[in-house]
Amino acid sequence: MNDQQLLRYSRHILLDDIDIDGQEKFLAAHALIIGAGGLGSPVAMYLASAGVGRITLVDNDNVDLTNLQRQILHTSERVGQPKVSSGKTAMTQINPDIQVIALAERADEARLAQLISDADVVIDCSDNFATRQAINRTCVAHQVPLVSGAAIRFDGQISVFDARDASSPCYACLFPPDREFEEIACSTMGVFAPLVGIIGSMQAAEALKLIAGIGTSLSGFLLMLDARSMEWTRIGVARDTACLVCGKHDRA
Ligand SMILES: [Zn+2]
Repeated sequence: MNDQQLLRYSRHILLDDIDIDGQEKFLAAHALIIGAGGLGSPVAMYLASAGVGRITLVDNDNVDLTNLQRQILHTSERVGQPKVSSGKTAMTQINPDIQVIALAERADEARLAQLISDADVVIDCSDNFATRQAINRTCVAHQVPLVSGAAIRFDGQISVFDARDASSPCYACLFPPDREFEEIACSTMGVFAPLVGIIGSMQAAEALKLIAGIGTSLSGFLLMLDARSMEWTRIGVARDTACLVCGKHDRA
């Protein structure tokens, strides 16, 4: 690290759990963020500000006026731009030190495999069940840790699925892909603006912890937030040996 970097990251370096070593790990890491919306916004901004050296941001949407109430990566001037371009602008303004790869596409499974196999951590900030399942399948196959978050109305949830750990459940252990779930979208149901900030910031925290190997992750637990009462519920999630996704994979 040069003098500018030592200054920029000094408040992380001061933390014993991070120090120079942890900061070097951030700088050397590649994080893949899927979705540049409400959750993706704080994730992208914090990973950029913390100095994650390479960040790939994937989203095929353009910035819309209805996004600005909660998607703090974007601005009124950038309405109409691809979200990943707007996101890259915001991230490089915060930290010109890092490399941001902006992919304005909807990644299919083959593309996900390509992107995920090259990532140290994947942060799922997508907004639909099919994408979440595809991301999970690929993370299990390539043994890449996944930080998963969701937010709708006043309800948020977050967990970590770490396929490197044989005891860790995967997303499909918790939400089996063959079960029917009611797909609810922000566009019809609404979402409380700071809720995506709370959950997204926690996703960023879990991603940084995984990169630097700090503390213990949320793997094996699901945290659920009711923002109306600001009450958290933490439930244990066990790996399902009959899981359609990770049940078939023998892990060391
Ligand atoms: Zn599973």
